[in-house]
Amino acid sequence: MIPLFNLNAQHQQLQPRLNEVLQQVVRDGQFILGPNVKALEREVAIACECSHAVGVASGTDALRLALAAVGVGVGDEVITTPFTFIATASVILRAGAVPVFVDVDPTTLNLDSSAVASAITPRTKAIIVVHLYGNPAEMESLSDVAKKHGLALIEDCAQAFGAEYRGKRVGSIGSVGCLSFYPTKNLGGVGDGGMVVTNEPTIADRVDQLRRQGSRVRYIAEEVGFNSRLDELQAAVLRVKLEHIDGWQERRRQIASRYSEAFRSSRSVAVPLTHAPDSKPVFHLYTVKSQARAELQRRLRDAGVETGVYYPQALHLQPAFRQYLARPLPVAEDAQDTVLSLPMFPELTDAEIGFVIDSVLDISR
Ligand SMILES: *Cc1c(COP(=O)(O)O)cnc(C)c1O
Repeated sequence: MIPLFNLNAQHQQLQPRLNEVLQQVVRDGQFILGPNVKALEREVAIACECSHAVGVASGTDALRLALAAVGVGVGDEVITTPFTFIATASVILRAGAVPVFVDVDPTTLNLDSSAVASAITPRTKAIIVVHLYGNPAEMESLSDVAKKHGLALIEDCAQAFGAEYRGKRVGSIGSVGCLSFYPTKNLGGVGDGGMVVTNEPTIADRVDQLRRQGSRVRYIAEEVGFNSRLDELQAAVLRVKLEHIDGWQERRRQIASRYSEAFRSSRSVAVPLTHAPDSKPVFHLYTVKSQARAELQRRLRDAGVETGVYYPQALHLQPAFRQYLARPLPVAEDAQDTVLSLPMFPELTDAEIGFVIDSVLDISR
């Protein structure tokens, strides 16, 4: 079976080095906000072309603390995409704010900026844009909308670490970027982890304060905060992996272009497309669209190819969120029924890629 993703090959390669750094952390005995977290924050800030980076406990918390740091609170509206992972929208409700779902672009499945513009009300405070599957959203028009209306623009970069939009790294374009180091993400730890990146020192400061119980001076709380820190063991592992990330991203792009080349002439699967001609996706997932998805998925499984559906139900239709449905969102609703993600990880061999391609083409012939 060719899996959708597989971390074993990567970890086998890195095992000796990982053992070393993990043992070092235990020997040093500094487990919270120690030297590895500080170093990783510097390294990730550079990789994201941001002046500041603050390590937190997860990607979800990165979003939660970013929302608090830009001042989103009770009664505010936050415009976002319905075609994303649950966390993008649950943090809005956790802040006491209201998620306003608008439809996505049919080509990229990322937020449609004209839909965003027409959903703005006097209560709108922020936009959360997701770079879905590692493909940068149309940041130019979204930044224009945000600027024009004085809104915070939060980038959910959980799937897009290192991706570039018109020569700029994602996370550095809006007010603040949120990263996840969940193990299967392009840069993943061996447990939960996340980071907030920004070029605005006041946002970085506020997130730093929030992650440590709202306190700057020990045992004195300036505000009600959270316990949300990236731990030293994760940071040590992530620093090892960060040294390899550029090669891995390049390999993902290679695999994606082999897939796209092969499927371009197929009439039954549609390949993913990017909008900005000079953007550089990082293919967290390689996702095609098929009008006969259930059958394609079943037959691929029978042939020995694992696939996944990201995501099977748009958020505005889910029990937790559907009371916030303002109108039907046909593009997202079509996407939930047609998207299918194929195996994608840097260690896929050329032979395995060929096997996936042949299997898809055989079935769709
Ligand atoms: C993974 C993911 C998150 C949440 O990250 P966690 O580290 O799992 O909390 C948020 N948004 C998107 C789009 C994601 O893919």
